Amino acid sequence: MLDIATRKKTIMQMQPAQLEAITKQFATLKDHSPFYARKFDGIELGDVKTQADFEKLPFTDKADLREAYPLGLAAVPQEKIVRIHSSSGTTGTPVIIPYTKKDVEDWAIQFARCYEYAGVTPSDRVQITPGYGLWTAGIGFQAGCERLGAMAIPMGPGNTEKQLQFMVDMESTVLTATASYALLLAEEIEKRGIKDQIKLKKLVTGSERSGEKIRQRIIDGLGVEFYDIYGLTEVYGPGIGINCQYGHGMHVWSDYVYVEIIDPQTGEVLPDGAWGEIVLTTLQKEGAPLIRFRTHDLSRIIPGSCACGHDEHPRLDTLTGRSDDMMKIHGVNVFPAQIEEILSEFPDLSSEYQIRISHLEGRDTMRIYIEAPGSIDWAETSKAVAARAKSKIGFTPLIKIVELGFLPRSEKKTKRVYDERY
Ligand code: ZN
Repeated sequence: MLDIATRKKTIMQMQPAQLEAITKQFATLKDHSPFYARKFDGIELGDVKTQADFEKLPFTDKADLREAYPLGLAAVPQEKIVRIHSSSGTTGTPVIIPYTKKDVEDWAIQFARCYEYAGVTPSDRVQITPGYGLWTAGIGFQAGCERLGAMAIPMGPGNTEKQLQFMVDMESTVLTATASYALLLAEEIEKRGIKDQIKLKKLVTGSERSGEKIRQRIIDGLGVEFYDIYGLTEVYGPGIGINCQYGHGMHVWSDYVYVEIIDPQTGEVLPDGAWGEIVLTTLQKEGAPLIRFRTHDLSRIIPGSCACGHDEHPRLDTLTGRSDDMMKIHGVNVFPAQIEEILSEFPDLSSEYQIRISHLEGRDTMRIYIEAPGSIDWAETSKAVAARAKSKIGFTPLIKIVELGFLPRSEKKTKRVYDERY
């Protein structure tokens, strides 16, 4: 995944229209927004005239948004706010995002574009299973669907019995669901032997990370094309990008959002192709504009052209996790997902592994413990995995193969990375 050669390539250039939108926004931002007046105290936003100037601005983090609770993020008078959404805070205070009429419309425009990129047309029937309410899922899927002119079937989550009944009777052609719910539905369909009554052609799913094996089971089980949508409540919601029918990666709408990839530890902007944390800036948002918002989602900008020809909308690769999971070794950022990807190329290995990082004799060392059956040649396999890792992540870890069942199991999330350097 992390290819040393691509790190040397240039950084995505801010498009002239994006720079124009940013400078226009900056001209009045502090007057409208007490939040940014405070945040950029001492910084003259009028002096931001180039991409380099922009990259000197401080980041905005979720903690900043939380401090603004309840309506401190509003950058418009109260009477212009037509709706709020709230992101699920894992701890304590939620984040409230106010939307103006234009924000709500812009979100629907972006979502309709997502459906278009997935090849959805007004003759489609879209079964919507994400939740409705304070968070931005269900209502975003529905508004985009109606804007496009397709038929929305607003089921909301759960009640699998009724989902399947409507899927059959309403002849739904598009399913919108989380990957895990899509998998559950696929398994139910198989169990009941009703696949021949299902008319689904496409699945549009949120950006929850799902392994290639699960993805394939959903595609086979439902008989669908699989589309990944990107977005988060702080920046409209889902729908700011989607993968197209041709290529790999999610196009992000460059007329609404400016994307940067940064090193999560240093904050340095990384070249196209390098893996790091996604940072987003909204270009048109009125209710709660976001400037250099750290998503903590890990991905990279895919360099080069897409077969669909829409190179004006840069592509983000499949999310590989959260920046909190990142390991830094020999100056290289490594993510558990990269190790998983390497191991998945060796079908004889078990899916259980453990990574231990230590500092010995002045050097960082990564050891990877992997379970394998006694029937394969451990020495040969270790060598092959180490060589594959070297070409993928740029250095050679120590591979230790252990017996099946040796590594600890957990019913919840298994801890796989132990950093013993600190
Ligand atoms: Zn494309």
